[in-house]
Amino acid sequence: MTSSSLVIGHFTVLSLNLGHREGDTLTDQTTRPQIIVYSLGGTIASTKSTASTGGVTPQLGAADLIAAIPELRDVADVTAVTFRQMPSGDLTFADLVELARAIEQSFDAGSDGVVVTQGTDTIEETAFALDLLVRSSRPVVVTGAMRNSTVASPDGSANVLGSVRVAASREAKGLGTLVVLNDEIHAARFIRKTHTSNLATFHSPSCGPLGWLIEERVRVVMRVAPLADVGPVFEGDAPPVALIKCSLGDDARVLDQLASLGYEGVVVEGFGGGHVPARVVASLEKLAVRMPVVLTSRTGSGELLNETYGFPGSERDLLSRGLISAGVLDGPKARVLLSLILSTDVERTRARTVFESVIASITSHDTTPHP
Ligand code: ASP
Repeated sequence: MTSSSLVIGHFTVLSLNLGHREGDTLTDQTTRPQIIVYSLGGTIASTKSTASTGGVTPQLGAADLIAAIPELRDVADVTAVTFRQMPSGDLTFADLVELARAIEQSFDAGSDGVVVTQGTDTIEETAFALDLLVRSSRPVVVTGAMRNSTVASPDGSANVLGSVRVAASREAKGLGTLVVLNDEIHAARFIRKTHTSNLATFHSPSCGPLGWLIEERVRVVMRVAPLADVGPVFEGDAPPVALIKCSLGDDARVLDQLASLGYEGVVVEGFGGGHVPARVVASLEKLAVRMPVVLTSRTGSGELLNETYGFPGSERDLLSRGLISAGVLDGPKARVLLSLILSTDVERTRARTVFESVIASITSHDTTPHP
Protein backbone atom coordinates (compact mmCIF):
# COMPACT_ATOMS: atom_id res chain seq x y z
CA MET A 1 0.00 0.00 0.00
CA THR A 2 2.76 2.43 0.98
CA SER A 3 5.28 3.60 -1.58
CA SER A 4 8.10 6.08 -1.04
CA SER A 5 8.74 7.61 -4.41
CA LEU A 6 10.81 10.76 -4.56
CA VAL A 7 13.03 13.00 -2.50
CA ILE A 8 13.21 16.54 -3.81
CA GLY A 9 15.52 19.14 -2.36
CA HIS A 10 18.75 21.05 -2.63
CA PHE A 11 20.86 18.37 -0.94
CA THR A 12 19.51 15.58 -3.13
CA VAL A 13 20.09 17.51 -6.32
CA LEU A 14 23.66 18.36 -5.26
CA SER A 15 24.50 14.74 -4.55
CA LEU A 16 22.99 13.54 -7.79
CA ASN A 17 24.63 16.13 -10.03
CA LEU A 18 27.99 16.74 -8.40
CA GLY A 19 28.71 13.59 -6.46
CA HIS A 20 29.37 13.58 -2.74
CA ARG A 21 31.23 16.55 -1.36
CA GLU A 22 31.31 15.83 2.31
CA GLY A 23 31.20 19.40 3.57
CA ASP A 24 28.20 20.40 1.45
CA THR A 25 26.42 17.22 2.30
CA LEU A 26 26.77 17.64 6.04
CA THR A 27 25.83 21.30 6.04
CA ASP A 28 22.78 20.79 3.86
CA GLN A 29 21.58 17.72 5.71
CA THR A 30 21.82 19.30 9.12
CA THR A 31 20.19 22.63 8.27
CA ARG A 32 17.44 21.84 5.80
CA PRO A 33 14.07 20.81 7.27
CA GLN A 34 13.14 17.20 6.47
CA ILE A 35 9.44 17.00 5.55
CA ILE A 36 7.33 13.98 4.55
CA VAL A 37 4.25 14.41 2.37
CA TYR A 38 1.69 11.60 2.78
CA SER A 39 -1.01 11.62 0.09
CA LEU A 40 -4.44 10.02 0.56
CA GLY A 41 -6.26 11.00 -2.68
CA GLY A 42 -9.10 13.54 -3.04
CA THR A 43 -9.51 16.41 -5.50
CA ILE A 44 -5.88 17.44 -5.14
CA ALA A 45 -4.92 14.04 -6.61
CA SER A 46 -7.73 13.92 -9.16
CA THR A 47 -7.49 13.98 -12.91
CA LYS A 48 -9.64 12.85 -15.88
CA SER A 49 -10.95 9.36 -15.47
CA THR A 50 -10.93 6.89 -18.35
CA ALA A 51 -13.77 4.99 -16.68
CA SER A 52 -17.24 5.10 -18.22
CA THR A 53 -18.47 7.18 -15.27
CA GLY A 54 -16.53 10.20 -16.62
CA GLY A 55 -15.50 13.05 -14.31
CA VAL A 56 -12.25 13.16 -12.37
CA THR A 57 -10.99 10.55 -9.91
CA PRO A 58 -8.00 10.40 -7.51
CA GLN A 59 -5.00 9.10 -9.49
CA LEU A 60 -1.96 11.29 -8.73
CA GLY A 61 0.44 10.06 -6.08
CA ALA A 62 2.48 12.10 -3.62
CA ALA A 63 5.50 12.11 -5.96
CA ASP A 64 3.36 13.61 -8.77
CA LEU A 65 2.09 16.32 -6.43
CA ILE A 66 5.52 17.46 -5.25
CA ALA A 67 7.18 17.11 -8.66
CA ALA A 68 4.80 19.82 -9.90
CA ILE A 69 6.15 22.35 -7.33
CA PRO A 70 9.79 23.30 -8.09
CA GLU A 71 9.66 26.00 -5.37
CA LEU A 72 9.79 23.24 -2.75
CA ARG A 73 13.52 22.97 -3.41
CA ASP A 74 13.98 26.31 -1.64
CA VAL A 75 11.98 25.27 1.42
CA ALA A 76 12.84 21.74 2.53
CA ASP A 77 13.91 18.23 1.60
CA VAL A 78 10.60 16.58 0.84
CA THR A 79 9.92 12.85 0.78
CA ALA A 80 6.75 11.67 -0.96
CA VAL A 81 4.67 8.75 0.31
CA THR A 82 1.45 7.66 -1.40
CA PHE A 83 -0.43 6.25 1.58
CA ARG A 84 -3.98 5.86 0.18
CA GLN A 85 -5.69 6.77 -3.10
CA MET A 86 -9.39 7.47 -2.51
CA PRO A 87 -12.12 10.09 -2.14
CA SER A 88 -11.92 11.34 1.44
CA GLY A 89 -15.40 10.06 2.30
CA ASP A 90 -14.02 6.52 1.99
CA LEU A 91 -11.33 7.01 4.65
CA THR A 92 -11.90 5.15 7.94
CA PHE A 93 -10.66 5.40 11.51
CA ALA A 94 -8.50 2.34 10.75
CA ASP A 95 -6.73 4.36 7.98
CA LEU A 96 -6.17 7.27 10.34
CA VAL A 97 -4.79 5.14 13.18
CA GLU A 98 -2.35 3.58 10.70
CA LEU A 99 -1.42 7.00 9.31
CA ALA A 100 -0.85 8.39 12.82
CA ARG A 101 1.52 5.48 13.55
CA ALA A 102 3.41 6.15 10.30
CA ILE A 103 3.68 9.84 11.21
CA GLU A 104 5.02 9.05 14.71
CA GLN A 105 7.58 6.72 13.12
CA SER A 106 8.62 9.48 10.69
CA PHE A 107 9.23 11.77 13.66
CA ASP A 108 11.20 9.07 15.49
CA ALA A 109 13.32 8.70 12.34
CA GLY A 110 14.14 12.43 12.34
CA SER A 111 11.48 14.18 10.21
CA ASP A 112 10.86 17.77 11.22
CA GLY A 113 7.30 17.96 9.98
CA VAL A 114 4.60 16.13 8.04
CA VAL A 115 2.09 17.24 5.41
CA VAL A 116 -0.99 15.13 4.63
CA THR A 117 -2.85 15.74 1.35
CA GLN A 118 -6.40 14.47 1.00
CA GLY A 119 -9.95 15.28 -0.10
CA THR A 120 -11.45 18.34 1.53
CA ASP A 121 -14.82 16.72 2.26
CA THR A 122 -13.68 15.14 5.53
CA ILE A 123 -10.62 17.24 6.48
CA GLU A 124 -12.48 18.68 9.46
CA GLU A 125 -12.76 15.14 10.88
CA THR A 126 -9.49 13.51 9.77
CA ALA A 127 -7.36 16.46 10.90
CA PHE A 128 -8.99 16.43 14.34
CA ALA A 129 -8.43 12.66 14.58
CA LEU A 130 -4.72 13.21 13.84
CA ASP A 131 -4.71 16.03 16.41
CA LEU A 132 -5.83 13.48 19.01
CA LEU A 133 -3.69 10.57 17.80
CA VAL A 134 -0.27 12.16 17.13
CA ARG A 135 1.34 13.21 20.42
CA SER A 136 4.50 14.86 19.04
CA SER A 137 4.94 18.63 19.17
CA ARG A 138 6.33 18.59 15.62
CA PRO A 139 3.97 20.01 13.02
CA VAL A 140 1.39 17.91 11.18
CA VAL A 141 -0.36 19.92 8.45
CA VAL A 142 -3.36 18.66 6.47
CA THR A 143 -4.26 20.19 3.13
CA GLY A 144 -6.21 19.54 -0.09
CA ALA A 145 -7.63 21.41 -3.06
CA MET A 146 -11.00 22.70 -4.16
CA ARG A 147 -10.09 22.78 -7.87
CA ASN A 148 -8.69 19.68 -9.52
CA SER A 149 -5.75 19.77 -11.92
CA THR A 150 -7.93 19.74 -15.10
CA VAL A 151 -9.66 23.11 -14.46
CA ALA A 152 -8.39 26.70 -14.59
CA SER A 153 -6.42 27.88 -11.53
CA PRO A 154 -6.13 24.65 -9.58
CA ASP A 155 -5.18 25.44 -5.97
CA GLY A 156 -3.45 22.18 -5.01
CA SER A 157 0.17 23.20 -5.64
CA ALA A 158 -0.12 26.49 -3.75
CA ASN A 159 -1.74 24.66 -0.83
CA VAL A 160 1.03 22.01 -0.71
CA LEU A 161 3.77 24.65 -0.94
CA GLY A 162 2.16 26.68 1.86
CA SER A 163 1.70 23.54 3.97
CA VAL A 164 5.35 22.50 3.59
CA ARG A 165 6.37 26.04 4.61
CA VAL A 166 4.22 25.75 7.72
CA ALA A 167 5.37 22.19 8.52
CA ALA A 168 9.00 23.33 8.22
CA SER A 169 8.51 26.38 10.45
CA ARG A 170 9.35 26.87 14.12
CA GLU A 171 6.11 28.82 14.55
CA ALA A 172 3.96 25.73 13.91
CA LYS A 173 5.57 23.63 16.66
CA GLY A 174 3.33 22.67 19.54
CA LEU A 175 0.06 23.67 17.86
CA GLY A 176 -1.24 20.15 17.29
CA THR A 177 -2.51 19.29 13.84
CA LEU A 178 -3.07 22.26 11.53
CA VAL A 179 -5.07 22.70 8.34
CA VAL A 180 -3.59 24.99 5.70
CA LEU A 181 -5.57 26.05 2.63
CA ASN A 182 -6.01 29.29 0.76
CA ASP A 183 -3.04 30.85 2.63
CA GLU A 184 -4.73 30.45 6.03
CA ILE A 185 -3.51 28.39 8.98
CA HIS A 186 -6.26 26.80 11.11
CA ALA A 187 -6.29 24.59 14.20
CA ALA A 188 -7.75 21.17 13.33
CA ARG A 189 -10.01 21.31 16.38
CA PHE A 190 -11.91 24.38 15.15
CA ILE A 191 -12.00 24.17 11.34
CA ARG A 192 -15.10 23.42 9.23
CA LYS A 193 -15.77 23.13 5.51
CA THR A 194 -18.51 25.70 4.88
CA HIS A 195 -19.05 25.87 1.10
CA THR A 196 -19.42 23.25 -1.64
CA SER A 197 -17.01 24.82 -4.14
CA ASN A 198 -15.57 28.17 -3.04
CA LEU A 199 -11.78 28.29 -2.51
CA ALA A 200 -12.39 30.09 0.79
CA THR A 201 -14.53 27.22 2.08
CA PHE A 202 -12.54 26.56 5.28
CA HIS A 203 -13.33 28.59 8.36
CA SER A 204 -12.91 28.29 12.11
CA PRO A 205 -16.20 29.94 13.08
CA SER A 206 -15.58 29.91 16.84
CA CYS A 207 -12.23 31.71 16.82
CA GLY A 208 -10.86 32.37 13.31
CA PRO A 209 -7.54 31.17 11.85
CA LEU A 210 -4.38 30.93 13.98
CA GLY A 211 -2.38 32.66 11.29
CA TRP A 212 -1.64 33.01 7.60
CA LEU A 213 1.00 32.81 4.88
CA ILE A 214 2.27 36.02 3.35
CA GLU A 215 4.85 35.91 0.54
CA GLU A 216 7.27 33.29 1.93
CA ARG A 217 6.56 33.95 5.59
CA VAL A 218 4.56 31.91 8.09
CA ARG A 219 2.60 34.08 10.54
CA VAL A 220 1.11 32.53 13.69
CA VAL A 221 -0.70 35.11 15.78
CA MET A 222 -2.70 32.82 18.11
CA ARG A 223 -1.72 29.59 19.87
CA VAL A 224 -3.84 26.68 21.10
CA ALA A 225 -3.31 24.44 24.13
CA PRO A 226 -2.15 20.81 23.86
CA LEU A 227 -5.09 18.38 23.82
CA ALA A 228 -5.49 15.98 26.75
CA ASP A 229 -4.59 12.38 25.88
CA VAL A 230 -7.30 9.86 24.91
CA GLY A 231 -4.89 6.99 25.62
CA PRO A 232 -3.58 4.22 23.34
CA VAL A 233 -6.04 3.51 20.52
CA PHE A 234 -6.52 0.01 19.07
CA GLU A 235 -5.71 -0.66 15.43
CA GLY A 236 -8.67 -1.24 13.13
CA ASP A 237 -11.99 0.51 12.90
CA ALA A 238 -13.67 2.38 15.73
CA PRO A 239 -16.87 1.12 17.38
CA PRO A 240 -19.99 2.57 15.71
CA VAL A 241 -21.03 6.02 16.99
CA ALA A 242 -24.20 7.60 15.56
CA LEU A 243 -24.49 11.30 14.70
CA ILE A 244 -28.11 12.48 14.91
CA LYS A 245 -29.23 15.98 13.93
CA CYS A 246 -32.46 17.30 15.53
CA SER A 247 -35.01 18.92 13.27
CA LEU A 248 -38.36 20.60 13.63
CA GLY A 249 -41.12 18.24 14.71
CA ASP A 250 -38.68 15.32 15.11
CA ASP A 251 -39.77 12.31 17.14
CA ALA A 252 -37.58 9.70 18.77
CA ARG A 253 -38.04 6.77 16.37
CA VAL A 254 -34.43 6.73 15.15
CA LEU A 255 -33.03 7.16 18.68
CA ASP A 256 -35.10 4.21 19.91
CA GLN A 257 -33.44 1.92 17.34
CA LEU A 258 -29.80 2.83 17.97
CA ALA A 259 -28.98 0.31 20.72
CA SER A 260 -30.46 -2.61 18.80
CA LEU A 261 -28.55 -1.53 15.68
CA GLY A 262 -25.31 -2.01 17.62
CA TYR A 263 -24.28 1.60 18.19
CA GLU A 264 -21.99 2.08 21.18
CA GLY A 265 -22.24 5.85 21.44
CA VAL A 266 -24.36 8.73 20.14
CA VAL A 267 -23.77 12.39 19.37
CA VAL A 268 -26.93 14.51 19.21
CA GLU A 269 -26.82 17.85 17.40
CA GLY A 270 -29.52 19.81 19.21
CA PHE A 271 -31.03 23.16 18.30
CA GLY A 272 -29.30 26.42 19.25
CA GLY A 273 -27.52 26.27 22.61
CA GLY A 274 -28.26 22.51 22.98
CA HIS A 275 -32.01 21.82 22.91
CA VAL A 276 -34.23 19.01 21.64
CA PRO A 277 -38.02 18.61 21.32
CA ALA A 278 -39.56 17.62 24.70
CA ARG A 279 -40.96 14.43 23.13
CA VAL A 280 -37.46 12.91 22.59
CA VAL A 281 -36.16 13.54 26.13
CA ALA A 282 -37.26 10.19 27.63
CA SER A 283 -35.56 8.25 24.80
CA LEU A 284 -32.31 10.20 25.23
CA GLU A 285 -32.33 9.63 28.98
CA LYS A 286 -32.83 5.88 28.47
CA LEU A 287 -30.05 5.76 25.89
CA ALA A 288 -27.64 7.63 28.20
CA VAL A 289 -27.94 4.80 30.73
CA ARG A 290 -26.72 2.30 28.10
CA MET A 291 -23.99 4.28 26.28
CA PRO A 292 -22.30 7.70 26.18
CA VAL A 293 -24.66 10.27 24.67
CA VAL A 294 -22.99 13.57 23.77
CA LEU A 295 -24.93 16.79 23.27
CA THR A 296 -23.73 19.44 20.80
CA SER A 297 -25.32 22.20 18.76
CA ARG A 298 -26.36 21.96 15.12
CA THR A 299 -25.41 25.65 14.66
CA GLY A 300 -21.76 24.61 14.08
CA SER A 301 -20.32 27.50 16.03
CA GLY A 302 -19.96 28.57 19.66
CA GLU A 303 -19.94 26.65 22.92
CA LEU A 304 -22.84 24.57 24.27
CA LEU A 305 -24.89 26.32 26.94
CA ASN A 306 -24.72 24.88 30.42
CA GLU A 307 -27.06 26.66 32.78
CA THR A 308 -29.43 29.01 30.96
CA TYR A 309 -32.69 27.28 29.97
CA GLY A 310 -34.89 25.13 32.20
CA PHE A 311 -37.66 23.80 29.90
CA PRO A 312 -37.97 20.04 29.15
CA GLY A 313 -35.44 19.32 26.40
CA SER A 314 -33.25 22.29 27.35
CA GLU A 315 -29.49 21.97 27.90
CA ARG A 316 -29.94 22.04 31.72
CA ASP A 317 -32.56 19.32 31.52
CA LEU A 318 -30.52 17.07 29.18
CA LEU A 319 -27.22 17.45 31.06
CA SER A 320 -28.99 16.62 34.34
CA ARG A 321 -30.27 13.41 32.70
CA GLY A 322 -26.77 12.11 31.96
CA LEU A 323 -25.93 13.59 28.54
CA ILE A 324 -22.33 14.77 28.11
CA SER A 325 -21.59 18.32 26.90
CA ALA A 326 -19.48 18.61 23.72
CA GLY A 327 -18.37 22.08 24.86
CA VAL A 328 -17.00 23.90 21.82
CA LEU A 329 -16.89 20.83 19.53
CA ASP A 330 -19.40 20.53 16.69
CA GLY A 331 -21.16 17.25 15.85
CA PRO A 332 -18.61 15.63 13.48
CA LYS A 333 -15.69 16.50 15.78
CA ALA A 334 -17.50 15.32 18.92
CA ARG A 335 -18.15 12.05 17.08
CA VAL A 336 -14.43 11.71 16.20
CA LEU A 337 -13.48 12.23 19.85
CA LEU A 338 -16.05 9.77 21.20
CA SER A 339 -15.13 7.18 18.53
CA LEU A 340 -11.44 7.34 19.44
CA ILE A 341 -12.14 7.16 23.19
CA LEU A 342 -14.27 4.06 22.57
CA SER A 343 -11.33 2.62 20.56
CA THR A 344 -9.23 2.44 23.75
CA ASP A 345 -9.56 -0.02 26.59
CA VAL A 346 -11.10 2.64 28.82
CA GLU A 347 -13.96 1.32 30.95
CA ARG A 348 -17.23 2.57 29.49
CA THR A 349 -18.04 4.35 32.76
CA ARG A 350 -14.78 6.35 32.48
CA ALA A 351 -15.38 7.38 28.85
CA ARG A 352 -17.21 10.49 30.09
CA THR A 353 -14.23 11.57 32.22
CA VAL A 354 -11.79 11.22 29.31
CA PHE A 355 -14.19 13.03 26.97
CA GLU A 356 -14.57 15.89 29.46
CA SER A 357 -10.81 16.17 30.00
CA VAL A 358 -10.23 16.65 26.25
CA ILE A 359 -13.03 19.23 26.07
CA ALA A 360 -11.52 21.10 29.04
CA SER A 361 -8.05 21.08 27.43
CA ILE A 362 -9.41 22.86 24.34
CA THR A 363 -10.36 25.93 26.35
CA SER A 364 -7.35 25.74 28.69
CA HIS A 365 -4.97 28.68 28.95
CA ASP A 366 -1.86 26.51 29.19
CA THR A 367 -0.28 26.60 25.73
CA THR A 368 2.99 24.96 26.78
CA PRO A 369 3.49 22.25 24.14
CA HIS A 370 4.04 18.56 24.90
CA PRO A 371 7.77 17.66 24.78
N1 ASP B 1 -14.52 17.22 -3.12
C1 ASP B 1 -13.58 16.47 -2.44
C2 ASP B 1 -12.22 17.15 -2.37
O1 ASP B 1 -12.18 18.34 -2.22
C3 ASP B 1 -13.48 15.04 -2.75
C4 ASP B 1 -12.91 14.38 -1.55
O2 ASP B 1 -13.09 14.84 -0.44
O3 ASP B 1 -12.19 13.38 -1.74
O4 ASP B 1 -11.19 16.58 -2.45
